[in-house]
Amino acid sequence: MRADGFFLVLLAYLAGSCLARTKLLVLLLDGFRYDYISAKELESLPGFLEIAEAGVKVDYMTPDFPSLSFPNYYTLMTGRHCEVHQMTGNYMWDQETDKSFDIGTNEDSRLPMWWDGSEPLWVTMEKKKRPVFMYYWPGCEVEILKVKPTFCKEYYNYPSDKDFSTAIDKAIEVLSKGTADMAGVYYERIDVEGHHYGPWSAERKNALKDLDSALKKMTEQIKKMKLENDINVILFSDHGMTDIQWKQKVVELKTYINMSDIMKMMDRGPVVNLWPQNGKTEKIYNSLKEAKNMQVYKKEDIPERFYYKKGKYVSPLTLVAEPGWFITESMEKLPYWKNSTGEAIGWQHGWHGYDNEFIDMRGIFLAYGPDFKQGYKAGPIRSVDVYNIMCNVLGLDPLPNNGSWSRVECMFRNTANLARVSMMERCFLAVALILLMLT
Ligand SMILES: [Zn+2]
Repeated sequence: MRADGFFLVLLAYLAGSCLARTKLLVLLLDGFRYDYISAKELESLPGFLEIAEAGVKVDYMTPDFPSLSFPNYYTLMTGRHCEVHQMTGNYMWDQETDKSFDIGTNEDSRLPMWWDGSEPLWVTMEKKKRPVFMYYWPGCEVEILKVKPTFCKEYYNYPSDKDFSTAIDKAIEVLSKGTADMAGVYYERIDVEGHHYGPWSAERKNALKDLDSALKKMTEQIKKMKLENDINVILFSDHGMTDIQWKQKVVELKTYINMSDIMKMMDRGPVVNLWPQNGKTEKIYNSLKEAKNMQVYKKEDIPERFYYKKGKYVSPLTLVAEPGWFITESMEKLPYWKNSTGEAIGWQHGWHGYDNEFIDMRGIFLAYGPDFKQGYKAGPIRSVDVYNIMCNVLGLDPLPNNGSWSRVECMFRNTANLARVSMMERCFLAVALILLMLT
């Protein structure tokens, strides 16, 4: 081989290795409360235990307010509070256009108006021509800021455990082949069972056992394919879960107000949004101030610490229930189940959405892979912090956000960033040297 040919091959090789980056697999586990994996619980969860020992586990992660799914999905992926990214509820209404967002399931939920308030990580990646594959991730089917992920397996109600495992296998495959730089997989069953039967029910625990087995399979697959040094895995939840008591802890709005004075009511449970009829706001507000076990806020009076009130879809009145309480129009309008003897029993035993500082609302964060410390127990973080962690793994400059780098910097191996810099320096030197020799 002629000398310049040899150098060209070397140059191509170096350029390739200079561009090689670690890949990121993200798992979003809905409704996963922080203490489902307490030290004691971990003893019987070999999958989670292995991940905690191989990487980083935080004490807990505080969600954004409201501690509901869609607001936190977007906080996690943008690093911004709800009032900044505008996804302020699972149910939202725009008075101007009379369009509504109904937990992502109605056609209008796909309108960019709900999503374009901030740029999520996957859109930034795609704009940089770095492909993202998403499986059942709510919102991956939406064109956000005119961009969709390279691949989106659309969410349906609701993905099975088999779907979850298959999605993880496919994600590992596309990451290993270089078809994707980042992959995200969504898992819902922990939330579903927590709602139906309560956070400490046998059903929720069984769901966790199955999830744990799926994670064990994932770590084994990564080892089998010798990808331990190529893939970082991050797992987090959007919020926790608490017990609710059907009948005993219900705030019935009809007790305090005439519902015909309400033009629009969105959602029920821990947080309810009310748009009173013209001229009725003061009357409704004063009546609801008498209500027990809940707070009523005018938009401007919502506590600053919620980072919520500036949202453009926030209603004139926001109701927030005390922990464990459930706000609804009237008991008769709540569905219920019957037990084997025909007795009416609550149709749900767990809920979330309360004040984000309520400890049962806390979620989880774990990470392992080449960039993360091993067996590291980190202090608490907040859901706004996760975006910076993912950007660092992906080598991306984060967009302006509300996260705190100092809360998460400790998770990274000291060498993670240094390695990246020294690799870049070596690449630069080698390329410069070769160019010099070619001239
Ligand atoms: Zn839920």
